[in-house]
Amino acid sequence: MSNIEQTLSIIKPDAVERNLIENIKSIFTSNNLNIKETKKIHLTKEEAAEFYSVHQSKPFYDNLCSYLSSGPIVVMILEGENAVLSNRKLMGATDPKNAEKNTIRKLYGISIDKNSVHGSDSVDNAKKEINFFFKN
Ligand code: UDP
Ligand code: MG
Repeated sequence: MSNIEQTLSIIKPDAVERNLIENIKSIFTSNNLNIKETKKIHLTKEEAAEFYSVHQSKPFYDNLCSYLSSGPIVVMILEGENAVLSNRKLMGATDPKNAEKNTIRKLYGISIDKNSVHGSDSVDNAKKEINFFFKN
């Protein structure tokens, strides 16, 4: 049975800064994730804090919000078969050191905070995150 989903992907400032946008997009499209929407934006720290509010009790929250708002990012809606899990597999583990070979974070991540991409972790969160960036 087919299970077409949508998920939210973000190319984080470290990857935008290193001109990796097209490399990362081509990993998605060559793995059957279609890019339905894409835009480049620069969040304020307040917007980053709202986006990552689920992490507000974590010790890394303040750094995370400063970092996500430190430069332009690219936000995308990806669509395809099992898109949420498929994107998480292509991303690799949160810490690039632990990410599997050929994953985006293994290829391009610098450190646990500068790990190049964000991806929704469930269908429910994907809906919320897509709505955060693409509500009209
Ligand atoms: N993060 C961090 N330090 C940590 C754990 C996470 O800076 O010890 C950052 C990291 O950039 C990660 C983000 O916080 O991508 C969100 O954390 P989460 O556990 O949701 O990881 P993800 O879903 O991005 O793999
Ligand atoms: Mg997460």
